[in-house]
Amino acid sequence: MSDFCTDAILLRKIEYGDHDYIITFLTRSRGKICVIAKNAKKSVKRFSGALDLFSVNHIQCTFPKKNKDALIILAQTDLENGFGNIRYDVFKTTYACYWVELIYLWLEEGKEQTELYDLLFFVLDMLNQSEIRMEVLSLLFQIRFMGISGFNPNLEACGTCSTPVDDIHQKNIYFDFKEGRILCHNCLKKKSGPESGSGSGSGSGYGMGVSKGTLKQLVWINTADLHRADRIKSSLFAIKEGEILLESFIPFHIGREFKSLKFLRQLRRER
Ligand SMILES: [Zn+2]
Repeated sequence: MSDFCTDAILLRKIEYGDHDYIITFLTRSRGKICVIAKNAKKSVKRFSGALDLFSVNHIQCTFPKKNKDALIILAQTDLENGFGNIRYDVFKTTYACYWVELIYLWLEEGKEQTELYDLLFFVLDMLNQSEIRMEVLSLLFQIRFMGISGFNPNLEACGTCSTPVDDIHQKNIYFDFKEGRILCHNCLKKKSGPESGSGSGSGSGYGMGVSKGTLKQLVWINTADLHRADRIKSSLFAIKEGEILLESFIPFHIGREFKSLKFLRQLRRER
C-alpha cells in the first residue's frame, strides 16, 4: 500500500511519551484514522500550526514499513484553516468540541465518510464566520449527523398510523427515543395501555413532548439546501426545544455521555 495525502479535521490529540502525539483525524478520503506524530512537540517545520482540535490540515502519511500492525505515521501537515475566530469564544469552542467528540465516539475507523467530512467542515466554517447562529448550526449538524449515521428520526408523521404532523390535533407530540419516531396521542395511548395513557403517556419510557412548530423547523433544517442555510429563521423557543430534544436523543442513541455537552450545559446555566 502506498503512502497518501488527504485533507483532515483533527478530532483528538493525546500525548504519547515525551515527544510524540497520537492523533485521530476525520479525513476527507479515508474516514477516521489514528496516526502517530513522532517528535511533533519539537518539529514545527513538519507540522505547521499547533495541531489544534478541529483545525483543518492537509496531511501526508506513511504506512509503517516493518511492523504492519503499528500506527500510520504522520509525516507532514500543512494548516489550511485553524478557525481562529471560534477559539476566541468559549461558547463557539464548546460547540465545535461537541461536534468533534460526537464524531470521534461514534465513527469506526477506516470507513470513507465524505458527506460527514463536508458537513463538519461546513458547520465549522460557518461558525468561524458567524454566518449563522451557533445554536442553529448545532441543530443542523446534529440532525444531519443522525441521517448520515443511519438513525434518522421520523419527525414528519406518526410512526405507527402515519398521520402527518399537520393533521395531528395536539399541540405537543410525543417523541419516542427508543424508536426514534413521533407518536400521535391515539397511538401513544394504545401503546402505553389504558392506565398510563393520560396525555403525557410514557411510550417506551424514554421520550418527551415536542411542539409541532419545533418538529417542522427541524425537518426544514434537515432537508433545506445547505447553501441556503443562512436563511434559516428559527424562533428562540424552537431552538431551545430542538436543543433539548437532540442533545438528549443523540447521547441516548450512542449510549455515551459527552464531556463537551456537560460543559456546554454548565455554560448555558451561568450565562
Ligand atoms: Zn398515530
